Amino acid sequence: NGFNELNISSELIKALDYLDYTKPTQVQQEVFPFLKAKKNIVVKSQTGSGKTASFAIPMCEQVEWEERLPQVLILTPTRELAMQIQTEVFNISRFKRLKVASIFGRSPFQKQEKLLKQRTHIVVATPGRLLDHVNRGTIDLSKIETVIIDEADEMLAMGFIEQVDKVLASVSEDINIGLFSATMPAAIQKLADKYLPDASYIEV
Ligand code: AMP
Repeated sequence: NGFNELNISSELIKALDYLDYTKPTQVQQEVFPFLKAKKNIVVKSQTGSGKTASFAIPMCEQVEWEERLPQVLILTPTRELAMQIQTEVFNISRFKRLKVASIFGRSPFQKQEKLLKQRTHIVVATPGRLLDHVNRGTIDLSKIETVIIDEADEMLAMGFIEQVDKVLASVSEDINIGLFSATMPAAIQKLADKYLPDASYIEV
């Protein structure tokens, strides 16, 4: 398997084989070393490039199964994308048996609250509903080590950027951030400069 050279665990390699991912795409090759080393990155890439797995693989790799509280937070603009990312993370971590919760609006709050009380390794969320959970104290972000912001330009277009900013302000200051966007409008650049001024920039 072409993923062997990224030095990932056999559990993940087995899952990638199962998915028929035989070699990493360009974005996967480039992003992996940065997120693996917990370095901040801004990635300009399009959907269809294998972008989801480019953050899902290193996230599944870094999570410690024994920890009960969420370690990774993935922010995404829509419910559909949240479900797609959840499926990709589930598939990649199939043999590691990670628990992935997806949290989005227009869906029962109590059900999500219950889910978040159980062991959760990775949370995939839309920003508004996530903030509701933060404000009501139904999610504990104290163990979050990495935040992935997916489709940042879409979140801006949908009016979610202030919420993303609030989420970033509510997690620990020394977290690792990966920001993914197809384009880099000024407001996204401003957000990047505020929260990840030391980031490396990758364009695929
Ligand atoms: P994305 O850019 O994340 O929307 O991914 C586009 C498509 O490529 C999805 O259907 C993935 O399942 C697929 N994919 C991602 N990585 C690989 C890979 N390394 N090899 C083959 N297919 C892949």
